[in-house]
Amino acid sequence: MLEATRKSDPELYGIVLEELERQKHNIEMIASESTACEELLELSGCVFTNKTTEGYPGARFQAGSQIADKMERLGIERAKALYGAEHANLQPYSGSSANYGVYASVLTPGDCVLGMKLDHGGHLTHGSPANFMSKVYRFVSYGLNRDTELIDYEELEAMAQEHRPKLVIAGGSAYPRLIDYERIANIAHKAGALFMVDMAHVAGLVAAKVLPSPVPHADFVTSSTTKTLCGPRGGLILCKAQHARTLDRGVFPGSLSSIHLNIMAAKTWLFQHAFSPEFRATMQQVVVNARALADALARNGFRIVSGGTDNHIVLVDLRPRKITGKLFQDALETVGITLNKNMIPFDPEKPSVTSGVRIGTTAVTQRGLKEPEIIRIANIMTRVAEAPEDASVLEACRKDALALIEPFPLYPREL
Ligand SMILES: *Cc1c(COP(=O)(O)O)cnc(C)c1O
Repeated sequence: MLEATRKSDPELYGIVLEELERQKHNIEMIASESTACEELLELSGCVFTNKTTEGYPGARFQAGSQIADKMERLGIERAKALYGAEHANLQPYSGSSANYGVYASVLTPGDCVLGMKLDHGGHLTHGSPANFMSKVYRFVSYGLNRDTELIDYEELEAMAQEHRPKLVIAGGSAYPRLIDYERIANIAHKAGALFMVDMAHVAGLVAAKVLPSPVPHADFVTSSTTKTLCGPRGGLILCKAQHARTLDRGVFPGSLSSIHLNIMAAKTWLFQHAFSPEFRATMQQVVVNARALADALARNGFRIVSGGTDNHIVLVDLRPRKITGKLFQDALETVGITLNKNMIPFDPEKPSVTSGVRIGTTAVTQRGLKEPEIIRIANIMTRVAEAPEDASVLEACRKDALALIEPFPLYPREL
């Protein structure tokens, strides 16, 4: 790995190596993370980095783009086949820029957009006051039902009727249950709105047909390619044929310029790989592992938000264990388990403290962990929650976590 950098910049090489070592020995449970396989690392650093190209295949602004055309066409065909979509745009740099691309395509400044509240599991780019989109469009947000902790579809419908948004958004970063896309599509269309699903978190599970697809119901589907899809750091937009030209204009020149062709090459590989039995089996196990984790933590006295999970996310309410999200996250980090503190619905704590954590099973499942190891992780988490500031407990947990993960290599061979 990094043969040339090792010679020209040993200091930086050392830092990258340190990160590789951290990842090797760490139990990674941040729900947005996954491990990019060797092909993805190769392609992300390939010579397509050198080529500047803007526009679309057959209509470029720079000469010398014929080979890039060939690749972009291949990637688009594979993405369409993978998701059964009528049109695909692979140019967005990330999930966020995919969302900006849709906004730039169909919204005019001042338009109303209805999305899910960030502290109920939505995303920054869906109208958080901290994101600059909130200065451009008028976002209103729906939330969860306090009792069920599921999307409050009645409230969503009432808000759609009241505000008559131009766009309704479903999908989020911390929502562990299925979303009834068909129902929200009907609500949106009845209110005269377009419907966008941001499937950033569940894109891999959808590709593997482990979860229902939003593609038949939504006008636009946006995604990051790094989360359950296990790809490079990039974005993706799918849409109905009738929106194809509008979308393509909104992405380029509407919201970004030259393509990251190297990353597009990695996405193109990924959209083929996601058809493989190996990928599908991993995605199935991701959900099995998430359920096993939710069950084990519930048995150990944690409260699971919404009572369980349908995807790769387990959202845990720590209040019954009298520990904050921040303290739990920090204590687990010292034992070699990474996850993130997260607001739970109607959280009384500040976002910097929180009453909950969000846990994801994608990265550990890629390494081969199954239910027995997941239950051992839940038990380590429980010991940490019981004594988050006891150095000897943390040290014993650190040894157990390391012994647990060591037999499951991050990469099948030395990089
Ligand atoms: C992670 C995420 C994004 C942003 O994706 P990036 O690739 O990090 O820009 C957008 N929407 C949702 C729902 C996400 O979870």
